[in-house]
Amino acid sequence: MKTNAAMLMEQPGKWEVVEADLDPPRDHEVLVRMVASGLCHSDDHVAKADGKVPHFPYCGGHEGAGVVEQLGTGVRGLEPGDHVVTSFIPGCGRCRWCAHGMQNLCDSGALLAGGAQLDGGFRLHYQGRDVARSSLIGAFSEWSVMSEWSCIKVPKRVPLRSAALLGCAVPTGWGSAVNAARVQPGDVVIVMGVGGIGINAVQGAAHAGAMLVIAADPVHLKRDAALRLGATHATASIQEATEIARSATNGQGADSTIISVGVLTGEHIAEGFDSIRKGGTVVVTAVAPMDSVGIPISPFMLAMFQKRLQGCLYGMMAPSADVPRLLSLYEHGTLKLDELVSRTYTLEEINVGYEDMHAGTNIRGLVEFSSS
Ligand SMILES: [Zn+2]
Ligand SMILES: [Zn+2]
Repeated sequence: MKTNAAMLMEQPGKWEVVEADLDPPRDHEVLVRMVASGLCHSDDHVAKADGKVPHFPYCGGHEGAGVVEQLGTGVRGLEPGDHVVTSFIPGCGRCRWCAHGMQNLCDSGALLAGGAQLDGGFRLHYQGRDVARSSLIGAFSEWSVMSEWSCIKVPKRVPLRSAALLGCAVPTGWGSAVNAARVQPGDVVIVMGVGGIGINAVQGAAHAGAMLVIAADPVHLKRDAALRLGATHATASIQEATEIARSATNGQGADSTIISVGVLTGEHIAEGFDSIRKGGTVVVTAVAPMDSVGIPISPFMLAMFQKRLQGCLYGMMAPSADVPRLLSLYEHGTLKLDELVSRTYTLEEINVGYEDMHAGTNIRGLVEFSSS
């Protein structure tokens, strides 16, 4: 079948919306009519060539929601008409990590960078060429064929437009605070960078009982949003945030600092390291260019102050358990989703959406598909 999809022809590049050919679903795959797709910074990393992908064209998008329209063979847990949120790592349920509830580390994640499906084949084609797809999903497309393990079934009563952000930004940010930083009641927490991920770390920290949630971001609109969604303080720099944390803790520093900046450097981690107390935790959620190396911190202080550096992928979540749980929190009014979307875009406007992200005029951009 035909589908309009936004793809990159090269790196660095701009998104081009073209008509492409989509194969029918194969074994353990489903055809999904996409309703909404979030504009995640990770896809922009590909466009800007911060992260290399081996195959072009490349269809972006991994934070989507839609409706299952057709099943391939062997699909057990989904039916046509089901509403689904995409999971950017298809938790197989059977590997060592999945078996221990760490679906975010599923061995199938090793295949994400290649752009093909779990069986090594491609489902999307443009002018006779195979098209790689973001996270085996390619949510910047009106229609997508994906593994059933990339789909998390959600209740039909929840608007898919709201649910889409549960594909990446919300679990990643919320889990950075709740799972990776293990925020406790009374904690002092700094969130460095309050874009689509960081704003959800703010929500997670606030609801985990943090006494102070200090959002550090140079962009005014993002600081305002953070204050509306649970931050007690908002500063333009990490240095100011560190001062507030120290003044509230008799000079010790934050219990945890979550790094969710746009493009990560080793210096950001060093700033986070300086901001925390003895025995505190730096959570590294932001994505660095793949070839960047080095973190300029004191190895002596690392040991003597017993500080913890915690990497964090997908909020250390098990999406098939945690996405429905987060949706329940949304339905009870605890987790805010609609407030995160500053503006929606058509697929054709996708480059405008990313320009707005860089200009700091949206918290999370969202593509809404016209067919929905
Ligand atoms: Zn993402
Ligand atoms: Zn697995």
